[in-house]
Amino acid sequence: MITGGHRGIGRAIAEAFTAAGARVAIADIEGADTAAGEIGRGTIGISCDVRSSTSVAAAVARATTELGGLDILVNNAGIAVLSPLHELSEEDFDSLVSVNLRGTWLVYKHAVPALINGGGAIVNIASLAGMAAFPLLGAYSGTKGGIVRLTEAMALELREYGVRANAICPGFIDTNMVQGSSDAFATITGGSFEQMVTAVQGRLGTPGEIASLATYLASDSASLLNGVAIIADCGMNLHRV
Ligand code: NDP
Repeated sequence: MITGGHRGIGRAIAEAFTAAGARVAIADIEGADTAAGEIGRGTIGISCDVRSSTSVAAAVARATTELGGLDILVNNAGIAVLSPLHELSEEDFDSLVSVNLRGTWLVYKHAVPALINGGGAIVNIASLAGMAAFPLLGAYSGTKGGIVRLTEAMALELREYGVRANAICPGFIDTNMVQGSSDAFATITGGSFEQMVTAVQGRLGTPGEIASLATYLASDSASLLNGVAIIADCGMNLHRV
């Protein structure tokens, strides 16, 4: 089950998992049915808002019933808001926490009973911004850092059930989220987002590159990895000057 899988990184993960032979449930606030139909091969689309306990419980129940169990959970749904931390509205702060951090926990909470039956894997999509603060992404960074800590707790608490939990920390990936941030970046800083990305990361990553990593982490080939956060950013985090 992949949250936020109708487009972007989640969509690429759904396609990669399907190609690897998995049956996938896409749980998204919109577009889940359409994406599932386009991917085919038994993919299920489930309308799900990760902010709502009722919605998440129903989505997990449907995925578990229709797939005959739940082996892999990808917590991918997320939002970003670009703003200096002190200018961020309370509403935007609450939304970031509610979708990114609380949403990850809520889906996990409801999925655990099914996951521990199968001895599977959890992949949480955090961010490089979860490993170090980014200017203009302060609250987003806070939620993503929280996901890294949650991932460690999941790994520790589910180890005895044979369920692994790992996080991916992407740099800048070419999706709607980044395209949307590009305009906000230019408005706030007067600079070019594209030039900034080229300077710090060299190029944008692709959703498929994150999907390859997620496929590996969810597979038995990664059986020694538990509770880690893997950075995928062309080495951007190593820049010191
Ligand atoms: P997108 O905006 O393309 O995809 C995010 C997906 O999450 C969308 O399908 C969106 O639905 C869905 N979503 C948003 N809110 C909810 C909700 N309340 N309930 C269910 N689904 C929801 O972004 P990306 O593919 O780039 O992002 C995927 C993940 O990767 C996010 O967690 C993001 O923080 C993370 N990430 C992205 C990076 C990047 O550079 N792109 C870098 C680092 C991390 P809808 O289309 O309706 O909005």
